[in-house]
Amino acid sequence: MKQLEPKFRCTGCNRGILNRSVARCLYCGADLPAEARLAPEVIAQRDAEHARMEEARKRLAQHPPPRPQAQGNSAADVIDGMSTGIDVIDLIGDGVSLFGKLLD
Ligand SMILES: [Zn+2]
Repeated sequence: MKQLEPKFRCTGCNRGILNRSVARCLYCGADLPAEARLAPEVIAQRDAEHARMEEARKRLAQHPPPRPQAQGNSAADVIDGMSTGIDVIDLIGDGVSLFGKLLD
């Protein structure tokens, strides 16, 4: 996994801003510049998507693969082993689209 270079830095301590949904630096407590903050509607949307992911994860946890692999427990194996195939593929499709948005 490659190191992500922070897009914004704190004006107080010059550390990368990791959480743009808070108004203050997590390290030194300095006010973050407006351009470094996320718009409230973006934060709300992100929270909603996070909640949706969390929900999907819980549902997946309730349906463990019926035949666990001794090795190489890849996503493909999990999908292959699912009895509730359609439901799970639907959930995974949801997660993939969210992942795409996060990388955007
Ligand atoms: Zn700081």
